[in-house]
Amino acid sequence: MPDRLLLCTDLDRTLLPNGPQPESLQARDQFAALAADSRLVLAYVTGRDQQLVREALARYQLPQPDFVIGDVGTTIYRIEPDGHWRGDQTWEARIGADWSGRTNRQLRHLLADVSDLRLQEESKQNRHKLSYYLALGTNRQAVVNKVTERLQTAAVRARVVWSIDEQAAIGLLDILPASASKYHAVVMLQQLLGFTDSDTVFSGDSGNDMEVLTSSIPAVLVANSDPEVKKEALQLAAASGHSAQLYIARGGFNDMNGNYSAGILEGVAHYHPEWCYPVKI
Ligand SMILES: [Mg+2]
Repeated sequence: MPDRLLLCTDLDRTLLPNGPQPESLQARDQFAALAADSRLVLAYVTGRDQQLVREALARYQLPQPDFVIGDVGTTIYRIEPDGHWRGDQTWEARIGADWSGRTNRQLRHLLADVSDLRLQEESKQNRHKLSYYLALGTNRQAVVNKVTERLQTAAVRARVVWSIDEQAAIGLLDILPASASKYHAVVMLQQLLGFTDSDTVFSGDSGNDMEVLTSSIPAVLVANSDPEVKKEALQLAAASGHSAQLYIARGGFNDMNGNYSAGILEGVAHYHPEWCYPVKI
């Protein structure tokens, strides 16, 4: 049994029960009981920015984490015991090198004449995350190609990530430093704190979790994730030789359904059964 455990979890539809599937009664209380164990280091790994993470913590009464990897891996915060969020400057410097020291504002100028891109609100930008809206009918590939070419010419190593906000029916284009991802940030946290894959568990449900879910880091896909995501994750994990490091929650642990926090607990119990004894609330 490892003396310590690093538990890294996505928020939306993984820990937060904000999908259409039901949440088992007491699942979050059991998660909070596990998080209260002083040997456990808890990190939330999310696309949300600091403000939106704070809102989720309050709304869903989540346990205070030790770390937050925010903005899709472009920020890492250590949460002090007094509640202060301290940004990790080493991480900022490391990912900043990918952009050759350029900031969000400087990249905007490089892309100012790319048509169809509409800048997202300032609250959705940060030093190392440049985010645009793109109408769903747009020739997305042409835009991505143009952006990529423009950045390459300027020696900017970037990941250009396309996703869809289904509720708002709009495309989202995020430009991030090449090494800023959930996966790289989790690895950085492992190194910073002296953890290895044998004492780390990650949980997620979709899209930007996929890189971690199919890596060598033991991971759990919560039961409420989309069947297509499960299929893709299984294929990618097999292709990279990491099938044994991917567990798909199916329900049954402590009589819960495996959705959201119940799935996280089920995954922790799968890899480290001694950490997830039935908890009395
Ligand atoms: Mg999610």
